[in-house]
Amino acid sequence: MKDQLISAFQARYDADPTIIIRAPGRVNIIGEHTDYNDGFVLPMAINRAVWIALRPRKDATVTIYSVNYDSEDSFDLNNIEHTDAGWIEYAKGMSWALLEAGYSLSGWEGVLAGDVPGGAGLSSSAALEMAIGRAFEAVAGETWDGTKLALLGQTTENDWMGANTGIMDQMISANGQQDHALFIDCRSLDAELVPLPAGSCIVVMDTSTRHSHVDGEYNERRAQCEAAAAAFEVKALRDVSVADFNAKSAILEALTRQRARHVVTENERTLAAANAMKAGDVATLGKLMNASHVSMRDDFEISSTALDKMVEIAQAQPNCYGARMTGGGFAGCAVALVDVDAAESFVAAVAPAYEAATGLTPALYVCDATDGARAVDA
Ligand code: ADP
Ligand code: MG
Repeated sequence: MKDQLISAFQARYDADPTIIIRAPGRVNIIGEHTDYNDGFVLPMAINRAVWIALRPRKDATVTIYSVNYDSEDSFDLNNIEHTDAGWIEYAKGMSWALLEAGYSLSGWEGVLAGDVPGGAGLSSSAALEMAIGRAFEAVAGETWDGTKLALLGQTTENDWMGANTGIMDQMISANGQQDHALFIDCRSLDAELVPLPAGSCIVVMDTSTRHSHVDGEYNERRAQCEAAAAAFEVKALRDVSVADFNAKSAILEALTRQRARHVVTENERTLAAANAMKAGDVATLGKLMNASHVSMRDDFEISSTALDKMVEIAQAQPNCYGARMTGGGFAGCAVALVDVDAAESFVAAVAPAYEAATGLTPALYVCDATDGARAVDA
């Protein structure tokens, strides 16, 4: 990826780039639909990333060529206009958010390329935002806080792109670390690195299904969670323990109870998963992932036939410790925890079995946990 990027830069500018940025995509190992309930999530940064090779300019112009889209666009930092022009809006939005927050920015030009599949739920957009943030940081020759950049990435999604997303994706893309997942408290934004159990690896399994028109479903889930929190007289479902929930759940109407049960138990599972990682307990971590899938399928009802089939096939493999759907739901990716020595045979077994069962060709990625967004050697 990096070599390809440098060649693209050289071909365009007839010079070498002076700065190279890498910002990873991510997968969430456990903790789904807990973020907007002020709860816990446990994502890791993956070995698929958005890269930028660049050189500073003397003026306030930012010019970017996307290799993936084979298109160049530019904008003036003194006059950033929203034009619905596509991918460049992420760069404009991040620049706008940084300027609004008081950062001083100067122009640059460069080439952008990525191998995070777009729209698959691996957060290529958050990776792009963090890449842009780190690009400005490197041009300024300063050191900026990852969590602050993450919050500005979320501002970009919410206020510039109009996407009502949480903070997880940017937090992990900014703050990930090699061989670790990041346990994030979505209320305080405290984050703790926890090691992936030695001898295991994460396999992302893209069902090759994509969701459309599920905003209504998300909004309904959010409203149900808010209603449950109100009934429990707490700020968010994060404040309800499993014991509290079991003692008082009769106050909730049946469907709200079911939705709330997912969030309350998922928070507990995510905490337990972080502890299992710290203890190197791969078997417990896998079981928690399996239980998470059941909860999403039956209580939160955000799985799909394709996701269930992928998870079932994965769980049936020897050397698979656990598997679950990951991401917002209804389509996209599942994630499995697999013995690292068996990863290739796992992929070789799961892909054809899924294809035979569904008629869909999946994409499976054996993932390493990588560092968060930063400048790398040019
Ligand atoms: P996800 O974040 O799940 O991958 P999104 O729809 O949120 O999906 O973000 C994908 C968008 O991010 C793309 O449509 C594009 O605008 C932008 N993007 C991601 N990677 C690149 C890239 N390499 N070049 C240009 N734009 C990119
Ligand atoms: Mg996105």
